[in-house]
Amino acid sequence: MTDPFAAPWNRRALLCASGAGASAGLLLTAVRAAGLSARPLFTLGVASGEPLPQGFVLWTRLAPEPLAIDGGMPARTVPVRWEVAEDAAFRRVAARGTALAEPRWGHSVHVEVAGLRPDRPYWYRFLANGEASPIGRTRTAPAADQPVDRLRFCFASCQKYEAGQYAGHRLIAAEAPDLVVFLGDYIYENGPQQDVRIHRNPEPVDLGGYRVRYATYKTDPLLQAAHHAAPWAVIWDDHEVANDYADAVDEDNGDPAAFLRRRAAAYQAYWEHMPLRRASMPQGPAMQLYRSLQWGRLAAFQLVDDRQYRSARPCQPPELAAQHRPYRTRTPDCPERRDPARSILGAAQERWLHDAFAQSRAQWNLLAQQTLMADAPRLNPAHLDAAPDQYTLDNWGGYPATRERILRHWRDAKLANPLVLSGDIHAFAAVDLLDPDRPDAPPIASEFVGGSLTSKNHDPLFKQSAARTPGFRFAEHQVRGYASATMTPAECAIRFVGLEDPANPDSPARTLAHFTVAAGQRGMRVG
Ligand code: FE
Ligand code: CA
Repeated sequence: MTDPFAAPWNRRALLCASGAGASAGLLLTAVRAAGLSARPLFTLGVASGEPLPQGFVLWTRLAPEPLAIDGGMPARTVPVRWEVAEDAAFRRVAARGTALAEPRWGHSVHVEVAGLRPDRPYWYRFLANGEASPIGRTRTAPAADQPVDRLRFCFASCQKYEAGQYAGHRLIAAEAPDLVVFLGDYIYENGPQQDVRIHRNPEPVDLGGYRVRYATYKTDPLLQAAHHAAPWAVIWDDHEVANDYADAVDEDNGDPAAFLRRRAAAYQAYWEHMPLRRASMPQGPAMQLYRSLQWGRLAAFQLVDDRQYRSARPCQPPELAAQHRPYRTRTPDCPERRDPARSILGAAQERWLHDAFAQSRAQWNLLAQQTLMADAPRLNPAHLDAAPDQYTLDNWGGYPATRERILRHWRDAKLANPLVLSGDIHAFAAVDLLDPDRPDAPPIASEFVGGSLTSKNHDPLFKQSAARTPGFRFAEHQVRGYASATMTPAECAIRFVGLEDPANPDSPARTLAHFTVAAGQRGMRVG
C-alpha cells in the first residue's frame, strides 16, 4: 500500500492549507470575512458525496475551535467560496461559487455542484477569511445509460474513536476508490471511557454535545484523508443517536417525547457533518436518509434507514416498557417476531425500496444497510448442542418478515445480481441469503459485512453460532478493518482487509478473505 500523503493532490492540500501554495496565493484575495481571527477554519477537513453524473455534494464546516460548542465561530453568517477543478493544480476550474456558513447549521457548508461532466475525477477546495481549505479529490458518476468497465468501492462501519486509530482510513485513502460507502456508527455516543483514545465530552444529548462529538472524530487526520480521497455515500446506524434505539424508543424504554428531542439534535448534527443533499435536511426529529445512487449501467445502490421507522421490538415482557427498564436484546422466538405487519424499514420506505428495485436496470443491485440482514440466530450458551435459537432483536433478527418480503421480491422479479452490504456487528461476515420458502434452492443474494474499523466484539459464541447457521461462508470477529470491492459487468470481487493492530495508525493490513460473486450466478465463491 502506498502512503496517501504521498499522493500529489494531498501534498498540494498541505501546501494550500499552510498558505504556501503558488496557486493558492492568487485565490486568497477572495474572501476575508471581518471579525474572524487568523485561526485556521478548516480543522474538520473537507468532504464530498452523493455523486451524480453531473455533480456531487461538497462539504465543510468552519470550526477554528473544533471542540467548542459553537466551533469558535461568531454568531453570524460567513460567506465561503468554493471551487471545483478538472486538475489538482486548479488550472482548469470547472465550477465556482459562494455558499453561506450559517450559525444555525453550525457553520457547515453543503454545496450541490451541477453542470459537470460524467465519469471523471474532480478536485475541490473552499476559501474563507483568506484561508484555503485542504484539497479534496472526488468524481462524478457515469451517465445513467453508460456502460461501465469497473467500479472500485470500499465499505466500512463502526469507527469508535476510543477503541482504536484510523489505520483503516489511511488504507482506504491509499486505495483512492471511486466511492466509499459508510454503513453507520460514524460516532459513538458514550461518555468518556479511556481505551486507545478517549472521548472529549460527556455523553451528548443536545445539539452542542453532538457537535463536539463529531468534531472529536473529524479532527482525526486519517479520517480526513479518507474523505479527501473519494466521494462518500453515508447512512447512519444507532450510535449516531443512541445505542440500539428503535424509532422513538431508546434502549432503556425511556420517554419517547424526550428521546425525539434528543434524536432531533443528533440528526441535525449528523446533517451538519455529512456531505448530504438538501433533500436529507432534518425537520425536527425527522430526516429522510433513504435514497438511490446509480453508477451507470453497472450498479445501483439503494441506501436505507433501518432505525428511524422500525416497528416496536417484539418478544418483550410488557413491564419493561411500562417501567422504563432496558429492553431484552436477545430472546427465543415468539409469534410477534414474525408478524407481517411489523417492519424494520416502515411501510413507506419498504414501498419505495420495492419500487426502486423494480425500476432498476443495473447489472448489480446493492442494498446498503445498517445491520445484519441474514437469518442468524445465536447459540444459547446454556444449550450449546442445540441449534442456534436466540434472536438478536436489534437487527433483522427482530424483523424477519421484512427480510422475507425483500428476498421473495428479488426472487420473483428475477432482479439482476442482488448484493447486501452491512455493518453494525463489529465482525467480518459473508453469508449467502437463502430462499425463505426453499432453503435448498440456490441462494437469492449474498451479504457482506465489512468488519468494524475500530469497534470491538467480545462475543465468544460469534464464530460458533455462524458455523451452525446455514448460508454463512465466513465469520471473523476478532480482527478490525474494512472491505474493498471491485465490480465489473462479469463479477464482483470483495476483499476483507484486516488490520494487524487497530491501536496503531500505521498498522499494516492483510487480506483476511476474498470472495467472488459471478454475474448471473447465485451465491458467492470463497477464495
Ligand atoms: Fe457499531
Ligand atoms: Ca450499531
